[in-house]
Amino acid sequence: MQKVIIIGSGCAGLTAAIYAARANLAPLVIDGHEPGGQLTITTMVENYPGFPDGIMGPDLIENMRKQAQRFGATFRAGSVTAVDLSRRPFRVEVAAEKFECETLIVAAGASARLLGLENERKLMGHGVTTCATCDGYFYRGKEVVVVGGGDTALEEALFLTKFATQVTIIHRRNEFRASKIMLERARQNAKIRFLTPYVVTDVLDVAKGAVEGIRLRQAGNGKTMDLATHGMFVAIGHEPNTKVFRGKLEMDAAGYLVAKDGAKSSVEGVFVAGDVQDHLYRQAVTAAGSGCMAALEAERFLEAQEQAH
Ligand code: NDP
Repeated sequence: MQKVIIIGSGCAGLTAAIYAARANLAPLVIDGHEPGGQLTITTMVENYPGFPDGIMGPDLIENMRKQAQRFGATFRAGSVTAVDLSRRPFRVEVAAEKFECETLIVAAGASARLLGLENERKLMGHGVTTCATCDGYFYRGKEVVVVGGGDTALEEALFLTKFATQVTIIHRRNEFRASKIMLERARQNAKIRFLTPYVVTDVLDVAKGAVEGIRLRQAGNGKTMDLATHGMFVAIGHEPNTKVFRGKLEMDAAGYLVAKDGAKSSVEGVFVAGDVQDHLYRQAVTAAGSGCMAALEAERFLEAQEQAH
């Protein structure tokens, strides 16, 4: 029986672990399918307070992990496969292993959404990527495409102009979801061009093990064409990792967990932190802040339980 289980080991989960561990709650952190979360696939983080020269994402995470361990947090590799939140103690399953806890902090994060094409998956890391900040550098002097029509796509496209010779934004509609200011900035950038309304139907060339182009279908008339490119940046949004909580915790239409009064979920004793409950800010520092809130709430909840008995 654990006092606190934390699901997720990104910025939110690790900050919750530091706070819970320092409160002598000996939290158990379940790493998840991407240990360390999204910061582990970033390079330099320049906006995390306290690091005037910036810090590498993986180093920041490693430091947080050590800090949590120093105060008694323990870690378990693997992803949560099932939870029972219908009564306390809550039950958490990681494959065949079963854990019980008095409070639960869900900091399972969000993952980049993909187009769902077979060759997109096969060429992931070989020209297909979801992170311009991480991989932009590799496309110095090359041509790339960015898929998507939201703020992320435009932000990534603008960032990529620092490296690439040309950035083509491919969007399935003529209207953009992105903010006007971002759209204007992209339109004014000579390195950016727009190709709409087009749907990416294939990524070429798996036989060569590298991206050499993409196949496109024009929405409406169905005409297809191939476009030569060195890289495809998929920027079509993120999906919260909340499948196991469906029907168990309140979520919004997009599947993000609903946080009330800071870090409370719809189930008493279950708290939420980080990108799993935030589609708006998605920053390391906001994730860390909400991890702290969740741990403080868990501590208060446990104290109130003790006083009641
Ligand atoms: P959004 O949900 O805003 O946009 C996703 C885009 O991807 C849409 O244009 C959508 O097309 C497209 N898309 C989704 N699925 C597919 C698919 N299967 N095939 C092709 N295209 C697809 O996500 P973002 O990540 O861009 O932004 C998320 C939130 O974060 C927003 O609120 C945004 O404003 C915010 N943000 C703010 C930034 C800033 O202010 N600097 C920077 C980055 C994000 P369609 O429009 O047709 O649905």
